[in-house]
Amino acid sequence: MAAEKESGGTFSPRQTCEHFLEEAFDRLETVDEVRNLLRAPYRETRFELPLNRDDGSVSVFYGYRVQHEHSCGPFKGGLRFHPDVDMDHFVALAQLMTWKTAVLNLPFGGAKGGVNCDPRQLSSRERETLTKRYVERVAMIIGPDRDILAPDMGTGPQEMAWIVDAYALQAGFEPGVVTGKPLALGGSPGRLAATGRGVALVAGWAAEAAGIRLDGATVALQGFGNVGSHTARFLADQGAKVVAVVDVEGGKYSAAGLDIEGMVKAVQDQPGGAVPDLAVEGETISSEELFALEVDLLIPAAIGGVIHRGNADRVKARMVVEAANLPVTSEADQMLRERGVVVVPDVLANAGGVTVSYLEWVQNRQRYQWTEDRVNRELTDRLQHAWREVRERSEASDISYRLAAYQLGLERTIEAIELRGF
Ligand code: GLU
Repeated sequence: MAAEKESGGTFSPRQTCEHFLEEAFDRLETVDEVRNLLRAPYRETRFELPLNRDDGSVSVFYGYRVQHEHSCGPFKGGLRFHPDVDMDHFVALAQLMTWKTAVLNLPFGGAKGGVNCDPRQLSSRERETLTKRYVERVAMIIGPDRDILAPDMGTGPQEMAWIVDAYALQAGFEPGVVTGKPLALGGSPGRLAATGRGVALVAGWAAEAAGIRLDGATVALQGFGNVGSHTARFLADQGAKVVAVVDVEGGKYSAAGLDIEGMVKAVQDQPGGAVPDLAVEGETISSEELFALEVDLLIPAAIGGVIHRGNADRVKARMVVEAANLPVTSEADQMLRERGVVVVPDVLANAGGVTVSYLEWVQNRQRYQWTEDRVNRELTDRLQHAWREVRERSEASDISYRLAAYQLGLERTIEAIELRGF
């Protein structure tokens, strides 16, 4: 379902992704056969998911799993529970995972799936039934060597635990079918915080390259879920001043910097609590006001398409760091580029999550658990290596970080496809 955005036109995740991809194809002079192969996913599945509700009624949801590419290794990607998802979303997000895993040099391809439900409207029993039924439907096409699931919007460690259970019924205990699990079921230390940790690391390196000192830099953040809250914490730890945070309900602003630890604690005490209701000091601010703040870093960490042609002109940040997937439309990307706003793309900025997913999968294969220090060291090294490669390519070819990352991802994927043969 394409969402109408206030004066920004219709946001299509698929068109956004295609636009970025075509630009990279053209620059690399990719041949038509390979373009055709990579434009479309390897497999798209959609299925009915009837659910007996607690009140005795039956709701029918739709489940999706899109597998885009798997020449470098098994498909890999999250499971999204959100009311606004459809096949186009998953086609785009699956493709994005292909470039993300390739930019990080992980031995995976790209996939994404989910259910068009609002998890906040479901009880825990309903979410468990829906998750397990989803696994029953896709059991034949997933597995530790086929397609590995993970958390995404609307899902977390508990859903991943239910996936372990449902998959074990089909294939025996095999925690490597899913990452982002609780520690007790073979999860990795550091996985929960990994995406936010990675966003903060990449933001720090990119800021330094742009002559911005993170210590004292001002930050505005949209989204205070797992990714947003961890990003805020790690940035605040490095001395950044997070001046504004919003979620779907609105948000808080403080020129002196918000009390991030206080906000995180307030959310823990009141799970699902909206940012404007949290008991911390700050003035009220809306998303659109946040996008127009004069800050060093603007970090969209929620949904796609939030910076679009209707508001990109108002962005006064020096740098936009994409903690969410596809938060900047292709038109807005162009507008920001022309105005000299640096954009750090999702395929690099939020790749810390899938990187620690990879480390979790390795630990599952070893039936061994690493220390959190080891995981965090590996994450930092891998992200830093990818950041350096993207930066070098961007500087050498005088192209945006996004185009550089897409080119690197594409080159690696195409090499694997050609080596394997059609
Ligand atoms: N859903 C996350 C993403 O979009 C993590 C995927 C994974 O760990 O496989 O990158």
